[in-house]
Amino acid sequence: MERLLLINITIDICAILFLIFLIGVYLTKKNADNIENKIYRVMLFTNALQLISNIACAIRQKNYIGTKLNIIQVIITMYYLYLFTIYIIIITNSHKEKFKELLKKKGRFLNIIGVIINVIISIIFLISPFNIEYVDNKLLTTGPVTVLPSAYMMTCYIIMVVEVIVNRKKVEKKKIVPLYVILVLTAVALVIAGFLNGIVLTTILITLISYLMYHTIENPDMIMVNQLQLAKESAEKANNAKSEFLSSMSHELRTPLNAILGLSEMIESESNQDEVKNDALDIKKSSEKLLELVDGILATNLLDANQLELVNTNYNPKELFEDIEKICRMRIENKPLELRTNFSNYLPNQVYGDKGKIKTIIMNLISNSIKYTDSGTINFGVDCITNKDKVNLVITVTDTGKGIKEEDIENIFTKFYRGEENKDSDIEGTGLGLSITKSLVELMGGKITVNSVVDEGTSFIVNISQGKVEEQQVQEEPELL
Ligand code: ADP
Repeated sequence: MERLLLINITIDICAILFLIFLIGVYLTKKNADNIENKIYRVMLFTNALQLISNIACAIRQKNYIGTKLNIIQVIITMYYLYLFTIYIIIITNSHKEKFKELLKKKGRFLNIIGVIINVIISIIFLISPFNIEYVDNKLLTTGPVTVLPSAYMMTCYIIMVVEVIVNRKKVEKKKIVPLYVILVLTAVALVIAGFLNGIVLTTILITLISYLMYHTIENPDMIMVNQLQLAKESAEKANNAKSEFLSSMSHELRTPLNAILGLSEMIESESNQDEVKNDALDIKKSSEKLLELVDGILATNLLDANQLELVNTNYNPKELFEDIEKICRMRIENKPLELRTNFSNYLPNQVYGDKGKIKTIIMNLISNSIKYTDSGTINFGVDCITNKDKVNLVITVTDTGKGIKEEDIENIFTKFYRGEENKDSDIEGTGLGLSITKSLVELMGGKITVNSVVDEGTSFIVNISQGKVEEQQVQEEPELL
């Protein structure tokens, strides 16, 4: 067998094996029942027929039968191109309601007309006269038969290109990739055929188109990707709606709650009757708890929606820690608890960071220590390590309280989680404090760790970096005379 013939047959066999694999993969998956898939299915089988006829005419190439087979093969290729053109027309016009309606009502009829036209063209093509000539020992077909397919294919190409240009704004770019590829590769195949006289790349080209279409057509993977995308979008929408609702609801609740709190404080301090005073105190405590819950929900919601931003300023860390100490001392009220503090002497006068959030973090930790320690001490210490451009703060809050059970430790930073024994106890809480604390620490690029022994106490360590402020930046500007 001639070398050229062998190459062509090898190419065809490779293409056929690949196509069998593609058809197998495509048919074993569940496909969307739409017109695109229906056309694609016929295209795959036309592609297979075309490959088989290609091998047949490669073997029988040098005689009359070979030429007739060649014509059949060209007819099949023309039909493939016809289907591809219909596919392009459908995907480029699918945004038009009228077009969709036309397809729905007259799709079957138009399809029959299309097939009839193709059959007529094929018959004309088959009976058209042709001459066979041998030039340089190669078979050449000449005559009217050669004009028809070229005109047919040219028409298909023009229709496709016009359709894409006219509808370029509406058409999904990915879906017309096979068209771009067919245009570019046809040119490449023609050039290659020109250089390597006799090597036919049409089969490879068409198989490649079938393969590309598999990825752009609505195959199961695409459906799944689209469904996931839709699910993601609707989940995001629902989440945004939830966030908006929660934050506006929390804001709306704060105003009446503050009024209740203020009025109950007033009644408590102004009333002379003990019973009224006690009732007012109960109302005040309940309102405080509700306010804490509302604030917690608001903060959690903002953190979840990534809407909480750092508000960085220069501040004096020692002043901030002393301020916190004062507030916490008041919170201890008459519990037999001692609050000890130990702030490093190396704390700079100024650091750059979000002082409000640092305060919330420490206040949450010390409030918990006060809540969960009946008697003993609470140590609030701050160490600091300064390097080139950062001040690393190590904040420790240690208590001699009831401690946390080992099985609870991994859950205490979870939203609304309260230690088992606290759920029904008198100790009030929302289960949000530590989850907010951890999120805030992480928002500031820090780390929080906990060590606890039941009945001995708990220790929380927070590592947070604050920006270093150069001394000259801190110095006040000299007053102008
Ligand atoms: P809560 O509102 O319940 O205090 P938190 O999120 O602040 O919510 O804390 C979660 C749980 O962690 C608490 O219910 C408690 O069981 C445990 N916990 C937190 N801090 C301490 C502590 N200092 N000592 C003992 N248990 C603690």
